Amino acid sequence: MKNIENMKIETKCLHSGYTPKNTEPRVVPIVQSTTYVYDSTEEVASVFDEPTKSLIYSRFANPTVMAVENKIADMEGGVGAMCTSSGQAATLLSILNICRAGDSFLSTTEIYGGTVNLFSYTLKKLGIECIFVPKGATDEEIDKLFKPNTKAVFGETIANPALTVLDIERFANLAHKHGVPLIVDNTFATPILCRPFEFGADIVIHSTSKYMDGHAVQVGGVIVDSGNFDWTNGNFPELVEPDVTYHGISYTQTYGKAAYIIKARMQLMRDFGVYPAAHSAFLLNMGLETLAIRMKQYCENAMVVANFLKNSDKIESITYPGLEGDAGYELGKKYLSGCSGVISFVIKGGRQTAMKFMDSLKLASNEVHVADIRTCVLHPASETHRQLTDEQLVAAGIDAGMVRFSVGLENVNDILDDIKQALDQI
Ligand SMILES: *Cc1c(COP(=O)(O)O)cnc(C)c1O
Repeated sequence: MKNIENMKIETKCLHSGYTPKNTEPRVVPIVQSTTYVYDSTEEVASVFDEPTKSLIYSRFANPTVMAVENKIADMEGGVGAMCTSSGQAATLLSILNICRAGDSFLSTTEIYGGTVNLFSYTLKKLGIECIFVPKGATDEEIDKLFKPNTKAVFGETIANPALTVLDIERFANLAHKHGVPLIVDNTFATPILCRPFEFGADIVIHSTSKYMDGHAVQVGGVIVDSGNFDWTNGNFPELVEPDVTYHGISYTQTYGKAAYIIKARMQLMRDFGVYPAAHSAFLLNMGLETLAIRMKQYCENAMVVANFLKNSDKIESITYPGLEGDAGYELGKKYLSGCSGVISFVIKGGRQTAMKFMDSLKLASNEVHVADIRTCVLHPASETHRQLTDEQLVAAGIDAGMVRFSVGLENVNDILDDIKQALDQI
């Protein structure tokens, strides 16, 4: 197998990250081992000076996980990736890698509920301020939000659950004007529907628990580095100046384009240890192998369901960037090659009617998940986002009657029949 990096993404899903040699296993092996053996003390010592040289301990590197990391980096078009034990851990480390107490960063308001909590409360306790960009803010207004201590801009390609589409180029330009990177949570789009690096994003993160896994079998996350950001611009001394914990290594000098992602592993993964188990990575890899073909079908099914709901008189409003006239339609045409399987809609009658509808579904399961291979449904106001204040709910684009419907890969007529019978109950 040659030059996988020049091949198309469907091929990368199957072949990137692991190329067996003569007589080696066809499938990426599960290396279920905490540690690795060395012939001499001297050799072990040298790996402590230079941990990327070889494997020492599965708290921050493991061959099965690394195969998946290399696959995802290739799919996104980045120079390197690091898997984490959850999407939350990926978000956390992506910020901590460049922000310390006393720093700030900007974020759009239309982001995942767990990310809102992390940014508004937990990071605040660590002394890192998240400045939320008001909805509809102009470039000039956003410019004014940057402070001398601002170190990054954060947004979601397709927001969960608001389903707004991020104007990646615009936010990348704003971030770069102030000498900081744009971090994009690309969970819902996956690299099949959007590769944010092609539009100027610098760092991509994912919750791999969603479409990438797809089968609801592992919780995980990943951080991918484009290698394009210039960390030597004066704003990021921690990437340039000597790291005393590695005998004075400079990440930018030693690792060049991969400085950010190697620092994340060498410092943060070493210290926090939020690395996935080999078995989780193996399961994630199986999901990735079919991602391209699954995404196509999710999008196709969701389009049919969205068109049906749009024309139902029991639905007050529907959000799906694939629908003409949707707020995200134009941006979707520019950035996405499909709008994923997630639809949100507001049922006439508010919270109680929405819950009645959900409880009447027979095929779609009521569960705290999204982007599963099976159709599933969730009520953000009373479930994932119940910790948010009413103001935060509005900012995140959530109505009390909103249902988040994650269209799966069942035959779409069976999904429609289920929705129809549930709508008849309300
Ligand atoms: C689920 C989700 C996360 C958090 O990921 P976990 O794997 O559940 O920790 C972050 N961002 C988005 C967009 C998500 O949907």
